[in-house]
Amino acid sequence: MKWILFFGALIGPSICGREKFFGDQVFRINVRGGDEISKLSQLLNSDNFKLDVWKSPSAFSHPVDVLVPSVSLQPVKSFLKSQALQYSVTIADLQALLDKEDEEMQHNEGQERSNNNFNYGAYHSLEAIYHEMDNIAGEFPDLAHRLKIGHSFENRSMYVLKFGTAEGRRRPAVWLNAGIHSREWISQATAIWTARKIVSDYGKDPAITSILEKMDIFLLPVANPDGYVYTQTKNRLWRKTRSLNSRSPCIGADPNRNWNSSFAGAGTSNNPCSEVYHGPHANSEVEVKSVVDFIQQHGNFKCFIDLHSYSQLLMYPYGYTVNKAPDAEELDEVARCAAKALASLSGTKYQVGPICTTVYPASGSSTDWAYDNGIKYAFTFELRDTGHYGFLLPANQIIPTAEETWLGLKTIMEHVRDHLY
Ligand SMILES: [Zn+2]
Repeated sequence: MKWILFFGALIGPSICGREKFFGDQVFRINVRGGDEISKLSQLLNSDNFKLDVWKSPSAFSHPVDVLVPSVSLQPVKSFLKSQALQYSVTIADLQALLDKEDEEMQHNEGQERSNNNFNYGAYHSLEAIYHEMDNIAGEFPDLAHRLKIGHSFENRSMYVLKFGTAEGRRRPAVWLNAGIHSREWISQATAIWTARKIVSDYGKDPAITSILEKMDIFLLPVANPDGYVYTQTKNRLWRKTRSLNSRSPCIGADPNRNWNSSFAGAGTSNNPCSEVYHGPHANSEVEVKSVVDFIQQHGNFKCFIDLHSYSQLLMYPYGYTVNKAPDAEELDEVARCAAKALASLSGTKYQVGPICTTVYPASGSSTDWAYDNGIKYAFTFELRDTGHYGFLLPANQIIPTAEETWLGLKTIMEHVRDHLY
């Protein structure tokens, strides 16, 4: 049963009032074909069970991960048994994982306060990430600048770090996006690590040095700031924006279904309470609109990469159709090279393919929009893991994840550098 605690003052500020998940579990349900998927859809679409789908059924035999609230455990188990669907419990004590994560974060905050040093192996508040972006720009004034590209629904600033060596000129550019889904914490953490990596390695690593001689990199580590703050103050598993809906008490839209590419098409919902609600119209979410306006005004982006979690996938357009993108062959080859580079560090395996057929149809996504607007090199990463921890990836995996992802990102950016169009 989910309930809310309001004695935050007694138990520390960061978990003040945050939703609890006592007794809730995450199930992995195995589906092997159309028949089982339709049985499963019955379960997932039933309002009675109040399930939160962490990983949706895909066209293939991929397992499905669902958060089952404690009150639904028995009924869900009975349903699965009656339908002969196989499952296992991947997270038996969700609240224990959340408590551990929170404890580690508070401990780290204390340490950072005393040694005044940003720990890249820890999860951070929005404020701390913004502060570190400022530090990076301050330490490397010839290489990095912090820009404000807009604000969120709740009026938080949206900051981007621009990395570049040629002031003023509108050079070909790469957009690195992270945290559009707020609960995917490894993406924001990987992004801020990447910012530090770029400034540290420029002039030392020939790859990033030559990339920055030709192109600028724009990095948005927290694309959904309201959602991110909400995951730390109210509900760790919040995915959407925090905008108000005029026709429903449910809050927010899925900012990765809100872009103007086959808006409201397959893989979206017009129900504001859905996790994949597309919003009232394309770009209705100010966070999305801010990025769209910035990219269009700039006019010279060649690459757009969106970091998500989890599942270990590297995908390219399209999400809204099974039809092949005109550049599918080249994108597939680049993605395969990137996945190979990524795996070279510690063997982490990524699956590669177009979004629609690798996971499921998803319309109005950022990378489809980028691709349809002339940004050929458009990719979506689903970072670690494959479901053992899901969205609650422990902080000790941040640096290993960021390091291997960097090899993939560099591979893509080197290809873009050598194939400017
Ligand atoms: Zn996501």
